[in-house]
Amino acid sequence: MKKGQSLQDFLFEEISDNKIFSKATDHGMNYLRDVFDRNVFPGEEALARLATFDEKLNDQPVNAVEILDKLHQYGSPATVAQMGGRYFGFVCGSSIPAGLAAKNLASFWDQNSAMYVLSPLASKLETVVESWIKDIFNLRGDYAFGFVSGSSLATFCALAAARYSLLKKQDWDLNRKGLQNSPDLRIVTGKHAHSTVLKAVSLLGLGTDNIEWVEVDDQGRIRADLIPRLDGNTILILQAGNVNSGSFDDFSSICGKAKKAGAWIHIDGAFGLWAAASSRLSFLTEGMEKADSFSVDGHKTLNTPYDNGILICRDKAALQSALHMSGSYIIKSADKDGMFHTPEMSRRARIVDLWATMKSLGKSGIAELVETMSDRACLFKKEIQKIDGFSVLNEISFNQVLVTCKNDELTEKTMKKIQDLRVCWVGGSQWFGRKVIRVSISSWATTEKDIQMSVNSFKEALEYIREEEK
Ligand SMILES: *Cc1c(COP(=O)(O)O)cnc(C)c1O
Repeated sequence: MKKGQSLQDFLFEEISDNKIFSKATDHGMNYLRDVFDRNVFPGEEALARLATFDEKLNDQPVNAVEILDKLHQYGSPATVAQMGGRYFGFVCGSSIPAGLAAKNLASFWDQNSAMYVLSPLASKLETVVESWIKDIFNLRGDYAFGFVSGSSLATFCALAAARYSLLKKQDWDLNRKGLQNSPDLRIVTGKHAHSTVLKAVSLLGLGTDNIEWVEVDDQGRIRADLIPRLDGNTILILQAGNVNSGSFDDFSSICGKAKKAGAWIHIDGAFGLWAAASSRLSFLTEGMEKADSFSVDGHKTLNTPYDNGILICRDKAALQSALHMSGSYIIKSADKDGMFHTPEMSRRARIVDLWATMKSLGKSGIAELVETMSDRACLFKKEIQKIDGFSVLNEISFNQVLVTCKNDELTEKTMKKIQDLRVCWVGGSQWFGRKVIRVSISSWATTEKDIQMSVNSFKEALEYIREEEK
């Protein structure tokens, strides 16, 4: 900033100096040029250099060019290469190029997608994407869609709608009367429900101690034959994609009966629901259309940028009541006003990323994306089993592989060594009391070569640990 210059003049100058925007793109493109080949986890040196960010907030404004250079110089090398094909930690997607680029364009628009009058464009794209998703998931009829930050929030909203609806049926207006002295609700779910489901249950005041836990089979699927008698006060929570094994609950044998009993069925399909897009894998989601609500992510299997979560709810009135919002300044329109289907009011137009990703892939592309992930998971299993000392504990139903060594200690040490080697990144988990290395194949970019390199790295790690123990 020049001496005596006003802040406004400084900021307008930064806009007219379009160098800063091309600079951001240049740095981004340089990053993309080697992210697919580099080590997945940043090296010690890059991590140590993060200390450069430990500084007091500057007194005076700083030029954007300087800021972008600093970010690229110290930030880029310290990122975890989740854009690449060898990040197998948690269940994280990567970004499809069109989604990434569209998100960048949308940043220039800076739209608040709360209401139609704030962004007719976001409202239109939300409406269009809703029909595309209904088509892919084979959902007929009317559904309310909320475009939220992720499955955690999608599940929270869906269960809020369920809670509102079931209490309403008993003449209890939750919004006015609250939970004190309200009729009891039952929560039934499998012992392998994702922890974000439990978080939603506690946030909603339903209490995890009240959950009726159902035993699961050896792949983590809820045992349909052990589900207790359901009724109209029950929320039944199922899952498409066990976070460890990737297995799916048997919707066809469960949902019909649960529906007849009057229960509200929610399906947590954060990464798994996209199996429905593939004719080869859609048997996994068969029967899901009977559920009342779904949570699913764009940012996992579909490979949109963060943060793209989708909430789908059959009972629009219940969802809108649960997330109700009013004010004399609010302008309702005949078109979609997103904020009535989300917990937040102001929201970036994340729908642009989702729209562009789906448009870029098309129906066949989404199917191929999902099938390729599944093929790579099968290949990983096949290759790792050839190596003495590793075994795989799960059937590959989707994209997850659970690997162990001879005992928990060796598994843990080998996993740490794999992380150290940085060729790929994997995390750990527990599977029926055993320590496992969890491999989640969720990036469009994972090639057969990536699988081979990663399997070799597993081998090298185990050999290293064995050598050390001699
Ligand atoms: C990732 C995940 C979630 C949480 O989703 P976020 O988008 O991270 O909030 C919920 N359920 C399952 C099965 C998941 O894999």
